[in-house]
This record gives sequence, C-alpha cells and structure tokens, in this order.
Amino acid sequence: MDKRTAEPIKKSLLAPHPPSNVSEGYHFSLRVCLQEGMRDRKRDRIAWCESPSALRLANQQTRSLSATPYGRAVCEWRKNGSGTYMCTGRPGWLTVSLRVGKYKKTHKNIMINMMDILEVDTKRQVVRVEPLANMGQVTALLNSIGWTLPVLPELDDLTVGGLVMGTGIESSSHVYGLFQHICVAYELVLADGSLVRCTEEENSDLFHAVPWSCGTLGFLVAAEIKIVPARSWVKLRYEPIRGLENICRRFAEASADKRNTFVEGIQYSLDSAVVMTGTMTDHAEPDKINRIGLHFKPWFFKHVESYLRGGHSGDIIPFGNNPVFRWLFGWMVPPKISLLKLTQGETIRRLYEQHHVVQDMLVPMKHLQAAITRFHQEINVYPLWLCPFLLPPGRGMVHPKAQQEEELYVDIGAYGEPKVKHFEAKASTRQLEKFVRDVHGFQMLYADVYMDREEFWEMFDGQLYHKLRAELGCKEAFPEVYDKICKSARH
Ligand SMILES: Cc1cc2nc3c(=O)[nH]c(=O)nc-3n(C[C@H](O)[C@H](O)[C@H](O)COP(=O)(O)OP(=O)(O)OC[C@H]3O[C@@H](n4cnc5c(N)ncnc54)[C@H](O)[C@@H]3O)c2cc1C
Repeated sequence: MDKRTAEPIKKSLLAPHPPSNVSEGYHFSLRVCLQEGMRDRKRDRIAWCESPSALRLANQQTRSLSATPYGRAVCEWRKNGSGTYMCTGRPGWLTVSLRVGKYKKTHKNIMINMMDILEVDTKRQVVRVEPLANMGQVTALLNSIGWTLPVLPELDDLTVGGLVMGTGIESSSHVYGLFQHICVAYELVLADGSLVRCTEEENSDLFHAVPWSCGTLGFLVAAEIKIVPARSWVKLRYEPIRGLENICRRFAEASADKRNTFVEGIQYSLDSAVVMTGTMTDHAEPDKINRIGLHFKPWFFKHVESYLRGGHSGDIIPFGNNPVFRWLFGWMVPPKISLLKLTQGETIRRLYEQHHVVQDMLVPMKHLQAAITRFHQEINVYPLWLCPFLLPPGRGMVHPKAQQEEELYVDIGAYGEPKVKHFEAKASTRQLEKFVRDVHGFQMLYADVYMDREEFWEMFDGQLYHKLRAELGCKEAFPEVYDKICKSARH
C-alpha cells in the first residue's frame, strides 16, 4: 500500500484548507491506451446525398444512406419484408453488460463496424465519433493532443454507442451530467433507412428521446461530443468520514461545490466512507505521485480504504489483492469482461445471477441516506460506489420529477456478494427497484431489471419515446426498450 499519498501537499491548489483528516495525492490521468494516434480520417465513409424522406420531424434534414453500410442493410431488411425486428450485430459477449440479449438470436442483426474517430474540432470543442469507438480509443487520441472528454466513463471497452443508447457516468458528472449531456449531436439511421442528424435545436424531440432508448428508435452512426482541455494529473483528496448522516451531508456538500472537478465516494459499511474530491493539474510533487494503474498496486478501493482505520471489505477476486499475486500476475488484471463472458459456462452464469449483485441505482441526492439504509437492509453489499451527477430538465426517458429544474442525483453502484441471509435475486432486487421508483430514481438498464412493464414506465418517462416510435415507424422495426432489457429478454 502506497502511504506516500497520505501526506498533505500543496494546499493552495485546492481552495479550502483540508481538514486534518483529509489526505491528498496525485494520480496520472492519462489512461492506458489501446490504440495510439489518430486513425485514418475516413470521412468519405459517410456519404451525404439528398433524398426524399417519409419522416415528419420538425426541421428535418434526412439523407439517403444507400451508399453506406447501415443504410444499405436497413433498406435490404425492408426489401425482404421487414418480418423481424432489427438490432445491432455486435455479439452479446462483446458488450460490457454481464447479460447477453436473447434477441440477438431472433432479430435481424445489422452487422456494421463503425469504430473511427471522424473529426476533432478544437475550435468548437467537439469530437465526432462513430458508435463503436470506445473510451480507450477516444482517450488515446484526445490525450495525445491535450484534450479529454468532460465525462469519461472509466472502462476502456465502453463504446460511444452503448453510452449514448444506454448511459454513462463518471466522477465529473456532478458538473457535466451523464454522458448523454456532453453530447451535442447524434446521427441516426432510422427505420426507413434514412439518416437524420439531431441536436438541441434540430429534430430536438429525437435528440431528447435517444438516450436510454437502447437502439429502439434507430441506429446511431455518429455522435458529436464535447471535449475539454486535459491536464496531466489528477490531484485527489481523501476524506474518511464516520456516521451515515455525516457521510451524506459531506458528500452532498462536495457534490454541490463546482470547484471540485471530480467527486466520488466509497462506502465501506453503513457508517464509514471515504469521500474523494479531485482537480486536474499540470504539476505534481514527485514524492506524492501514486500511479494507481501499475500492475502491482493494490486495488484502488483497498488503497482508498487505508484512509479509514479498521475498515474491511471484500474482493471480487479474493486473492487478487495479495501482494505476491499482484507482483506476479497483476499485469493480467482486470480481465476483459468480454473474455469472461465468452468463456463462462451456464452454471457459473446462474451462480452469479443468484449470489452476486451488479446494479447501479440513480436516486436524488436528498434521498441518499434512505437509499444507503435500504441497500444495507436488502443486500448488504460493500463497498458501494457513490457517484454524484447533475440531472438537467428534459423530455426524454430520464429527467427530474420537477420538469423545469435541474437536480443533483447520485449513482449508487453495488457490485458484489450480498451478505444478508434473506437475499433472493428477484425479490431483493424488486424491493430496491420499488424504493428507487418511489423516490423518483432510475435503474441503469445494463443490469438485471425485474420490474414488469407497468413498473418500468412508472420509473421512466415514456411520453416522448412512445410518440416518436409511432411517428418514425419504429414499432415494426425495433422492439420496445422494455422488451429488450427486461429479465426475460436476457440471459
Ligand atoms: C461490469 C460493468 C462495469 C461498468 N462500468 C461502468 C463505468 O465505469 N462507467 C459507466 O458509465 N458505466 C459503466 N457500466 C454501465 C455501462 O455504461 C452500460 O452498460 C453501457 O450501456 C454499456 O456500454 P457498451 O459499450 O457495452 O454498450 P452495449 O451494451 O453494447 O449497448 C448498450 C445498449 O445500446 C444499444 N446500442 C449500442 N450501440 C448502438 C448503436 N450504434 N445504435 C443503436 N443502439 C446501440 C445496444 O443495443 C444496447 O441496447 C458498467 C457496466 C458493467 C456491467
């Protein structure tokens, strides 16, 4: 365990003087690069040619895609009688979600590999990317020219398509919102094979309806995403806190403070947590540098836990944090989720389903204390990841109850083995889902969703979504989002 970061450093970099129990350290913010440099700019892959369209979108600008793979495939599907629904052809085991959609076997798979970064416009501060470009790839390019995404979900394998159509979050979300809120434009191939671009001003209904729709309004073929200047280091402060009330109060304060570029918390038990706040900086004191990505370093949550005295928590790989294991085999971890999914058998999958929880529940900050208490009663999984985010008003599936006001929410992530004796995957998750609905929260859709259809549409606002599905001919082309993500649709 690297204790060097436990020394207070250069307080002037952060405005308020940290309380005496707060520790600080620098972390290298450049991510492990899967791919170096910019790939060929294949702008010609998107062929823009005018064509009439049947769409009735306001100010619509649709273009024929017959010269491009997605458009050709959709036209082909229509020509063949459009008998089944369509879905992306990406194999289920490649996605980060631990579940695989059964629909991949029955729907028409549209196999397109669009994984390029098309353009970086530093004047407009926007990057335009194709849907299969992933966070590792986008970061490798942007960092090399001094930029980054303002919300950078931390797994390299997460794709732009998945983060737009599902959702994405990171510890800067208390300032910028979810991944969808840093997107300024989407380009979609719709059910009739046409290409449409949507933004806040242009085809605004579609722009609002796309996030969380899981590919049931159309295929995403490109997204324009905001970028911000990057610095080399993240200076982190660790504040260990005892007492649930104190934790929730301090976490809410830190999240509301926009001087913090990053805020996240790790809850180690009902009454102990470490709240982390961070800023980006160009300079780091060499003796305070903690390169957490090195293969022999302890798991990050174990490192953070060292700031709490006497806490304890469990490992996903029980022996993984052993120093000998880390020195010898640490370079092999974390394993690729896709590799685990591809190689696990049905028995292992069922064991995970019954004895393991992987859930992210998004609740208003004002209900954080009640939510942690409820998580403790229903599943008792620690550590919990706490990630604040700003939810602006909107008309799509996810927005605050008060339509006109932004609200601070928090993502509570529970990943591990439940310690309650009465745990039963379906019943326990349903209890949590009900709590989340009652406080006007949301469940991330990559996880096991046990709600029935009525409960699902009580949690999510379906008004705009259903209107667009009818207008854009989606009902014949794509399943309803509930039918794609509910428990019975995935294994
Ligand atoms: C172990 C684990 C760790 C995670 N860690 C994080 C994290 O650190 N940060 C975070 O923000 N989230 C995290 N998540 C949640 C994750 O963001 C979502 O599951 C996300 O949607 C997955 O992205 P993906 O690239 O795997 O997309 P997929 O699962 O492939 O796609 C998600 C949905 O979008 C649809 N879709 C994808 N591409 C397109 C397209 N081009 N056109 C139309 N529809 C499309 C798919 O059909 C699917 O319904 C995690 C999830 C798990 C299981």
